[in-house]
Amino acid sequence: MLGFFPTLYPGELLYSGIARYQIRSGNISPKSTIEELFNSRTITATADLPCGLDNLVLNLPSYSAITADSLIQNHTLYPFYAPFLPPKRAKRVKESMKSSKGGNIHTTAGVMASSLLTPEFLRFCPECSVENLEKYGETYWHRIHQIQGVIFCPIHHIPLQNSQIPIQGMNKHQYEAATELNCQIKDLDINYSPTETKQLIHLAQDIAQLWENSYPSRTLEWFSKRYRTLLIGRGYANVSGRVKQEKLIDDFLHFYDAEFLEVIDSIVNYENTSNWLSQIVRKHRKVFHPIRHLLMIRFLTDSIDTFFQNNKQYRPFGKSPWLCLNAAAEHYLQSVITDLEISHCLENKKPLGTFTCSCGMIYSRSGEDKTEEDKLRIGRVIAYGRVWENKLRELVEVKKLGLRATARELRVDPNTVKRYVALLDLTPSWTKNKPKIKSQQAKSIDVEVIKQRKRNIWLKLQQENPKLSKTEIRKLAPDVYTWLYRRDRHWLNDNSPILKRPRASINKIDWNIRDAEILVQAQNEVRNLLNKNKPVRITVGRIGANLGLKAFLEKHLDKLPKTKAYLKSVAETIEDFQIRRIKWAIAELDRQGEEIRSWKILRLAGLRRDCAEQVREVIEYRIRNCW
Ligand SMILES: [Zn+2]
Ligand SMILES: [Zn+2]
Repeated sequence: MLGFFPTLYPGELLYSGIARYQIRSGNISPKSTIEELFNSRTITATADLPCGLDNLVLNLPSYSAITADSLIQNHTLYPFYAPFLPPKRAKRVKESMKSSKGGNIHTTAGVMASSLLTPEFLRFCPECSVENLEKYGETYWHRIHQIQGVIFCPIHHIPLQNSQIPIQGMNKHQYEAATELNCQIKDLDINYSPTETKQLIHLAQDIAQLWENSYPSRTLEWFSKRYRTLLIGRGYANVSGRVKQEKLIDDFLHFYDAEFLEVIDSIVNYENTSNWLSQIVRKHRKVFHPIRHLLMIRFLTDSIDTFFQNNKQYRPFGKSPWLCLNAAAEHYLQSVITDLEISHCLENKKPLGTFTCSCGMIYSRSGEDKTEEDKLRIGRVIAYGRVWENKLRELVEVKKLGLRATARELRVDPNTVKRYVALLDLTPSWTKNKPKIKSQQAKSIDVEVIKQRKRNIWLKLQQENPKLSKTEIRKLAPDVYTWLYRRDRHWLNDNSPILKRPRASINKIDWNIRDAEILVQAQNEVRNLLNKNKPVRITVGRIGANLGLKAFLEKHLDKLPKTKAYLKSVAETIEDFQIRRIKWAIAELDRQGEEIRSWKILRLAGLRRDCAEQVREVIEYRIRNCW
């Protein structure tokens, strides 16, 4: 048992507390520190999701009230990931953190699969450091500052700075405490626009809120369903859940500053239909990074609480059931609706209720309901439903009511009646004197003429405004855009300005250092691959995947000249790989004491008889030289 252990400060990483312990204990060797704490000499000094916590707690002084759960909740990054992991997976992460074998904590938590870049150095906020020094006489590593996507201190609203301590240090058993020496304040040569700054601060605050409230983990289905409801309520999906991708991307890019998205590796664009935004609104088959969820939550709701429906007591529309406002239904004005989703209006932040009735009608209105009359108010009808449509057909085609009478019966605007008559292709009595519908041929000629006219307008707008983006041009002529989007989408996509990529974030990564580091990692990995018992082909993709850097390399290889040249020199073509397999097969046959024959080599190497000539030559040459 330890004689002492430092009291952890608010928001301090456990890693940081251990580093302070190491200094006070006077241990010179990092390995003796981890042995004292974890009864193991192989524990890695991990800042975000450490393991071995059960042993650590057992070793704490007897007066300590600390439990493994409280360490995990208050001094690691677990509560950042947990709300977005399915309950079983979150439990597995927690169990791994308690056990002395970490196993694949990071893979289970979904950290590895994400395309977000992890910070390279432990970071600090200059003002937090000053405050900590004044209050505690020392500074420490704050967990909020170490998260991907947290660029600003949520308390002081200033950019964080890199310390000199790399997150994956040279000695993986060494814990480094934050000191004035390794947290030197530099003049940052980065300019953030006011919008970018505001959004970066919001994101950091949202993360802080995540662990203040410790939301329970939810299943993938829960997230799919929740997003679907919110998307429908906001008009980004139709009632059956089909997402209006273009509108969604438009509004998302309008809501978030492009440079902000770039800084947190979450850029989206129209061209790439497999971008994360398009994926997160589909059925969830995988875990998404918390940052991506937080972006969606702020975009679709007013707060994380709303998203997780945390505040169950808040009832802006009173208690269930609610009134059906479908005049075509038999239960009109009766309290029959039990399905209410509450979100928040983006503009005025008021609660927005979406009521779904069994008769098929879905309507929404903003709250709160203050009077009895409020309960009769429809803000927007999202769907009228089958019952209403059948009634409309009956009134129009069987009872042959006039336009206004029909509208009165259904308690809607005459324009709504007109729209649905057209949509449902009904034959109303009030249009009997209309000119006869043109023949199909005449109609399609008309469409061609209109199409050409619309295309010309769209092209002309681009010529006149060469600097505008697709979205901006769209605003100049929304009707032309909508027409082309509905009927001529392919042409529209091929004949629109390409989304400009925002300027790359400057100076955030020292590419030279990064290049040198990755080069070493890649060299080690190639050595590993070459030492495998059975040959595997050396490709850039495989090296990247094994290092957990696949997406990073795909995106940034051009910024890493040394690594790029090295990878190019070692990557094998199919033929290279076949030749290597042959050499291996010969050595293997030799080792097994087998006769070295051409067919045996081919079979062991898994090659077909008709392989390339060059490969056959190698076999011949090798056999000749073996004998
Ligand atoms: Zn701060
Ligand atoms: Zn109803």
